[in-house]
Amino acid sequence: MAEHIKVIRGMHDTLPASMPVWHFVESTVINILNSYGYEEIRTPILEKTELFMHSIGETSDIVTKEMYTFEDRNGDLLTMRPEGTASCVRAIIENGLVQSKHNRLWYYGPMFRHERPQKGRLRQFHQIGVEAFGLPGPDIDAEIIMICARIWKDLGLTGLKLEINSLGSSDARLAYREKLIEYFSDNKDALDEDSLVRLDKNPMRILDSKNPELEKLIQSAPQMADTLDEESKEHFELLQNILNSVNISYTINPRMVRGLDYYNRTVFEWVTDQLGAQSAVCAGGRYDGMIQHFGGPPTPGIGFGMGLERLTILLEESNRDDIPAENADIYFVIATDEGIPTAMSLAEKLRDQLPGIRLITHCGGGNFKKQFKKADRSGAQIALILGKDELEKQTVGIKSLRTESEQQEVSWLELVEKIRDQIS
Ligand code: ATP
Ligand code: MG
Repeated sequence: MAEHIKVIRGMHDTLPASMPVWHFVESTVINILNSYGYEEIRTPILEKTELFMHSIGETSDIVTKEMYTFEDRNGDLLTMRPEGTASCVRAIIENGLVQSKHNRLWYYGPMFRHERPQKGRLRQFHQIGVEAFGLPGPDIDAEIIMICARIWKDLGLTGLKLEINSLGSSDARLAYREKLIEYFSDNKDALDEDSLVRLDKNPMRILDSKNPELEKLIQSAPQMADTLDEESKEHFELLQNILNSVNISYTINPRMVRGLDYYNRTVFEWVTDQLGAQSAVCAGGRYDGMIQHFGGPPTPGIGFGMGLERLTILLEESNRDDIPAENADIYFVIATDEGIPTAMSLAEKLRDQLPGIRLITHCGGGNFKKQFKKADRSGAQIALILGKDELEKQTVGIKSLRTESEQQEVSWLELVEKIRDQIS
């Protein structure tokens, strides 16, 4: 290779040293999702581009600026998924799961968005998300928020704040839309280019603008709450009652509109001030119109997605010492080439009889000193030693690598029991 080829900008290698934090987050989240009865679904990373155009919305930042879209060899227009909801909706319709018992789902995987890379903002990032189908009431809205709260608790993350809002029914949104068009049309001169486009197509999205020059204008815009229909008001109140009853605090953010065109009623975000400009770690909402829009039977839906990079940064920066290390338990030092077959078979016996044990057998030869150095660096608690003497006597040496205790010698027959005692 003439040149050193580097990774694509905004896409990261996750190296072994980072894995304990990642595994801690993944297993904590997935255990909690399972404990609430959610089931996993896996969908392809590539989908037809139109799937995202018609779900996320043609005026959204994702569709207008961020998608990785290309023509494949057949000339089909494909996109690397930028989020998980559209694929889930497609999959449950296509596989006849819309009105089945499998209506609480979770997914995990990489997502792709071509945005400006910064801390906590990548071009390939990872989301764990949930989607619940066929459940129209605020009970499920509250449940998925409770799941998030439990995730933060079990991860030991503090300082995440919940913001909620209601976008109302589609009729209420239409009425609100008219009010917004009137308001922003009166202030057309103050709008930027993006917002002018949105004014025609989807004026609510102007509220989502990140342009600081529009902040004042947006602050004084009419509020959804004043246009909210009775049913949505009740839905939103009951959601708040449930959140109060399970002691989840929240603030109502009347400006939060979220990205999807099909969001209605409940939307929410969990935000932090510890990630600079990237404040949201998790975001979600209700999308009761989407399944029908894609040709399925009228079926409500609600879900959220959380960004794993942002969660792992929060954990790494808090220097936590309670994240399980992933060191080896045992390092097998084999100080004689004739001993290799015996050591290998003893190691296999240990793995057979002590499931879950992490045992590294030394490979590549070398003297005692070199092998012990590697044993030490592996983080293992114990070194097993098979040298010439031990081979002759049919024994193995057991040496603690972390305490001063004396080296022991055990027969091959007793090895499993001895190790079982030592590591339990
Ligand atoms: P932001 O406002 O930060 O751009 P978003 O509204 O585009 O977020 P969603 O589409 O709601 O984000 O995705 C849900 C979560 O996925 C976010 O809260 C965040 O934690 C994570 N996320 C989104 N985009 C990225 C990215 N480019 N890099 C890393 N994480 C991301
Ligand atoms: Mg974004």
